[in-house]
Amino acid sequence: MPFAQLGLNADIVKAVEASGYTRPTAVQERAIPAILAGADLLVSSQTGSGKTAAFMLPCLHRLAEASAIAGRGPRVLVLTPTRELAQQIARATETYGRFIRRLRCVAVVGGASFYVQQKLLGQSADVVVATPGRLLDHLRRGRVDFSRLETLVLDEADRMLDMGFIDDIEAIIAATPAARQTLLFSATLEGVVGRLANRVTRGAQRIGIETAIELRGKIHQRMHFADDFSHKSRLLDHLLRDAAIGQALVFTATKRSADEVSEQLRVNGFSADALHGDMNQRSRNRTLDAMRRGHLRVLVATDVAARGIDVPGISHVINFDLPRAAQDYVHRIGRTGRAGREGIAISLVAHFEKRQMREIERYTSQPVRVDVIPGLEPRARPAFTRDDRRGARTRGAGAAHPSQGRPGATAGRRSYGRH
Ligand code: AMP
Repeated sequence: MPFAQLGLNADIVKAVEASGYTRPTAVQERAIPAILAGADLLVSSQTGSGKTAAFMLPCLHRLAEASAIAGRGPRVLVLTPTRELAQQIARATETYGRFIRRLRCVAVVGGASFYVQQKLLGQSADVVVATPGRLLDHLRRGRVDFSRLETLVLDEADRMLDMGFIDDIEAIIAATPAARQTLLFSATLEGVVGRLANRVTRGAQRIGIETAIELRGKIHQRMHFADDFSHKSRLLDHLLRDAAIGQALVFTATKRSADEVSEQLRVNGFSADALHGDMNQRSRNRTLDAMRRGHLRVLVATDVAARGIDVPGISHVINFDLPRAAQDYVHRIGRTGRAGREGIAISLVAHFEKRQMREIERYTSQPVRVDVIPGLEPRARPAFTRDDRRGARTRGAGAAHPSQGRPGATAGRRSYGRH
């Protein structure tokens, strides 16, 4: 179905087509008509599925008409877990709304000037995209007026809850009109997220977009076993010398290793930089901007800083360390293969991380091919133990940290090498 048939106004269709989108993604095709019809929605879909446009296009459609209520407060509020994601959504809003006259979108995030945000909120803002903590600060000072609010979007709700934002979110929602439309997007709609969803939506429609199927074919995954940090560093160096790499995003488990790895890469002649939560917002923005403009070839990041990175030039995602939760693996590798392009995801798996790799394969229902680089083979032959297999069958995703595994046990050796 073409965009023009989704019921969106012509200025929005024009902006979407100017962005080079030829047809709606699965989540857009299902969510846009439902949102236009005024429904509350619970959507399980991943980053990379086109979910931002899925909620923003119908919101913008409504913003093209003046509000029935006088005032300056936002008509659309989007809550997101991280600053980068908020800024990314604000940019997308401006792109999709560029033919709508006098559209104003404000990003309200921590780490940026409180005073400037206060001023912008004081002028009329149609769309506010915010991280919960900072928005609540403004709300408590009486700087936000929700009397005109029509639509509330909770984006990556599971992640916001993981990050401990539940009380802030509830306090913000309590300040919004009961008659609002609520759209909740999350990788999962089970457990705590499901309970929040029940409390904040009314008669919501559920839309589920199959992640595993969407991933297949677009992102090619493989892994290399590694002995230790230094072996991982040599593998990384080798992998990054591949001329087929456009830009690469490398994930580490800690801020310190992000700094160490990027420093080492610079010493070895790569254009590389780090991105993590200890950096102030200005340098985070500067680094992301350099990546976006193609001035930086390798970005070494931790999970928290990597949310919202949407750089089309990222051809490779390399997991220097595996994430603790299998869900994060999907988020990480979704940073490549954006918008229908192909991408490559390579994981460097230390022996103590192999259980976690099994967990990831089980979660995504996709086996990851083991690869070996001649001259950079691991010293020890990795083995999957009976315990690993049993653990992978019975444990929930991300329930245990891989370092809790029992390294060195060798019963039930799995074949190792290309398969
Ligand atoms: P998101 O899942 O919202 O993070 O979007 C992922 C990427 O897909 C972004 O780079 C969007 O610009 C792009 N995108 C969104 N909708 C479409 C579409 N219908 N066709 C092609 N690309 C799209």
